[in-house]
This record gives sequence, C-alpha cells and structure tokens, in this order.
Amino acid sequence: MNNRVYNFSAGPSMLPESVLLQAQKEMLNYGDSGMSVMEMSHRSKIYESIIYGAEDLIRELMNIPDDYYVFFLQGGASTQFSMIPMNLMNKNNKADFVVTGQWAKKAYQEASRYGAARKVASSEDKIFNYIPKLSADMFDPEADYVHITFNNTIYGTRYKAVPDTGKVPLVADLSSMILSEPVDVSKFGLVYAGAQKNMGPAGVTLVVVKKDFVGNAMDFTPTMLKYETHIKDRSMYNTPPTYAIYICKLVFEWLKNLGGIEAMKKINEEKAAILYNYLDSSDMFKGTVVPEDRSLMNVPFITDSEDLNSNFIKQATEKGFVNLKGHRTVGGMRASIYNAMPTEGVKALVDFMKDFEIKNK
Ligand code: PMP
Repeated sequence: MNNRVYNFSAGPSMLPESVLLQAQKEMLNYGDSGMSVMEMSHRSKIYESIIYGAEDLIRELMNIPDDYYVFFLQGGASTQFSMIPMNLMNKNNKADFVVTGQWAKKAYQEASRYGAARKVASSEDKIFNYIPKLSADMFDPEADYVHITFNNTIYGTRYKAVPDTGKVPLVADLSSMILSEPVDVSKFGLVYAGAQKNMGPAGVTLVVVKKDFVGNAMDFTPTMLKYETHIKDRSMYNTPPTYAIYICKLVFEWLKNLGGIEAMKKINEEKAAILYNYLDSSDMFKGTVVPEDRSLMNVPFITDSEDLNSNFIKQATEKGFVNLKGHRTVGGMRASIYNAMPTEGVKALVDFMKDFEIKNK
C-alpha cells in the first residue's frame, strides 16, 4: 500500500503508476548501460534507441502518415504560439483563430505580433462554456492557416469533430487531449502538445507537421525556433530534454499495451460519463459546459455557494482527492481526468461528492 492521492490537477498531472515504478527500477542503471538515462549522452546509441523508439511509438499510436515530421522540442506549448506564426504565417502573412479559451487567446495574441491574426469566432461571451459553430465559409481562403485549441483545459470544452476549413491548413493545440481519443492527423497541417498532461513530465513538446507545410520561416526566425532546424537533426540539433522523452516513451508503451488510443478512448468515455451523469442528477453540483461540447479530460463544476465550494475542496483534499480547485475565471471546481487517472479514482470522487451532498443538504 502506498500513500498516493488521486490527483485531479490540470497539469502536470498523474502518470501511470507502472511507468513511475519502471522509471524507479531503471533509475540507477538503464539497460546494461551502468548509468541513469539522465546521465547519458544524447548522442549515444542507447539514447538514440530511446528517442527514436519514442518517435516510432507515437507514430504508431497516432497513426501519423509518412508525409509528416515528428519532433520533440522544449519551451512548452506556449513557445509554439510564436513558433507557428514565424514558420507558417509566411505566404500571405495572415492566419485565422478560433478563440475558445485562455490558451487559444494567447495563441491568437502572440500570432498578431507577426502578421494579420484574425479572430474568426469566440465563445468568450459565455465564459468559454461552448465551442462556436464553424463552417468553411467563415475562414479567409487566403489565410496561411487556421488555429484551434482542440480541448480547452480551463473551461472543459472540446471539439467533437475536426472543423472544415476548406483549403486552409488547420493547426491544432492538442495539449490537453493528445492520446485520449483518436485524432485524424491527416486532416491537419500541424498539431502540437505539451507533454505534461497525457504524455509525460513537463519540459517536452511534441510537434507533428506535414512535410510540405514547412521550410519557409520568416527571415528573422531564430535558429532554435525554426522547424527546419529540428527536422534536419531529428530533434537533436541541441540537447533534447532527454529524461522527459524517456518517460514519454514509457507512457507510450503503457498506452500501447492497454490497446492503444481506441481502447483509451473507451475508458475515458466511461470515466467522464461517471462524473457527468452524477453532475446531471445532482441537486448541489452542476457542470458549467453545454452538454454537447463537454471535454473528456477536464470537468469543471460548481455549486451555487462559495462556502460550499471551499468546504468541498477542503474536505476532498483531506480525503486524498487533490487539486480540485477550479480556475479563477470559472470558480468552483475542476476535475482533470487525464489518461492516467484510474476509473476507480473517478468512482471514488463521485462517491465522495454524493456523500458530501447528503451531509450538506
Ligand atoms: N495549451 C493548452 C491547451 C494548455 O492546457 C496549456 C497548459 N495548461 C498550454 C497550451 C501551455 O502549455 P505550456 O505550459 O506547456 O507552455
């Protein structure tokens, strides 16, 4: 028995326990190298097997077509907010944005430093509790790309289908949903995700880009911020975040053994349903998002009293359900139930909520 809690953090968040145990086992001596992965040269054969192994696994799991590059970068998803325009806003110097939350807004604002960024639609009028309806005719056919945030971590909304942007390439931030359900990469020009929710520790960002979409960065783009730099050296232009990539590889193996992303999606749907069904039946707690746009990963909910919210968070924490406080712009609570959150964790949370509701009627 260990004393681990159910961690509902929005990220960094839970990792599969078997992954942590394997990392522990291999901490002092990886393979027969006589050293920790942290101590290895990134140029060694043994490390190459880790980073290229991770690339092969993510290609297999996400069914990434051969005409896409895959690489691991640093700087978090936030660095992509500027890397993307510097590298891709390069034909007509225009891009379209759908603003569905704080991260989408940051991507939009950052891009506007490099060219004509246009807000095509926004859900800010209702504190981002829905995904705006989109159609191909809303997008500028001359835009270099359209940017969307596929799952909105703070507000708990998600796209259920890939929007039709006509001929304009689609770029998507998958940070808080990657590997949680299948995404058809072939419909996108570029997708990216910070690792610290569904892939591994903070410090590594996955970028998947269509080969014919890159190679024309703005002149002033720093070498480290050009996709070509990292493509040419397969994520090893400079020292990559070696240990974080190793943990990602273990997570990819864990997911593959579980049956891959389809199997993961079933589990995630089941987990989310446990929580949403209860929220829909409760007289005390209610979800904040319109039902058709609900996220499988981030579930914000409120009561009608600040006192109840804070009592709930306090008592939940004491019982080992931690990091349930909602984002300040939504208030209340948010349960992030990423891939590594076991179904038992969600069931136990709902049992606790039911008990709290009865006791605080
Ligand atoms: N996009 C989304 C959807 C996020 O949830 C986050 C972080 N929570 C970010 C971008 C920013 O990621 P990072 O901290 O890796 O820069």
